[in-house]
Amino acid sequence: MYNLIDTHAHLDGEEFSCDINDVLDRAQKVGVKTILIPNINGTTINNVLDTCKRHTGTLYPMIGLHPEDVKEKEENDRVLDSMEAILKSHTDHTCQFIAIGEIGLDFYWDDTYKKEQKEAFERQILWAETYHLPLMIHSRAAHKELVEIMEAHRHNHIKGVFHCFTGNSDEAKDLLSFEGFMLGIGGVATFKKSNLPEVLASTVPLSRIVLETDAPYLAPVPYRGKRNESAFIANIAQKIAEIYHCTLNEVATTTTENAIKMFGTAIQKTI
Ligand SMILES: [Zn+2]
Repeated sequence: MYNLIDTHAHLDGEEFSCDINDVLDRAQKVGVKTILIPNINGTTINNVLDTCKRHTGTLYPMIGLHPEDVKEKEENDRVLDSMEAILKSHTDHTCQFIAIGEIGLDFYWDDTYKKEQKEAFERQILWAETYHLPLMIHSRAAHKELVEIMEAHRHNHIKGVFHCFTGNSDEAKDLLSFEGFMLGIGGVATFKKSNLPEVLASTVPLSRIVLETDAPYLAPVPYRGKRNESAFIANIAQKIAEIYHCTLNEVATTTTENAIKMFGTAIQKTI
């Protein structure tokens, strides 16, 4: 039996409200015993916490404001203030926050709030520094701005994951230059036309990768287009084994160790 960790899955979403127990059973059957749940905005945090509490020891919550949910400054400040209050006062040791996420920059569909996205991102990086938590970073069509902001924090002992990495080799090099950061690799690696296998094989050591589904989105082949779920990490891991010419066991062992290094002892029981 393998030990795999899904470092990014939105299992708090309504897509899973009817069958979360079955989803977790199927994950368990392929060796996924630990799943990290990112937060999206001010209205999702309670459900993220409730879902994780119902499955203590399997699901672990993050807290943060997703860049696509960043709006006017006043509104962001209000949401971020209330999140920080939750972060500060959260003393439930059975359900600790495992990371700040998902946060970052997304100018793909809309860059109306470019400045505000940068501001919110900066503020949440400071949380990671203050509360000693890793970052779960979402970045789309924003590589240059992402690197600029990260550069300003390069020596601040922060760590984290660049989630859903799908960039080219130069972008991978830029991101891997930040020590303590890893790339989150998911279903896109299995897509037929993806360049990701080449980029990974040529540029990214297995020691800098964590696995993720981003469920319910981006299901790997052969489930592409369907609802994604944590059990499909097995398909992603199989593809990674092909890319690195190693065994599934090596992929499971290394990526799980990587995740434990990143997210700490709270999830250590899984190996
Ligand atoms: Zn996500």
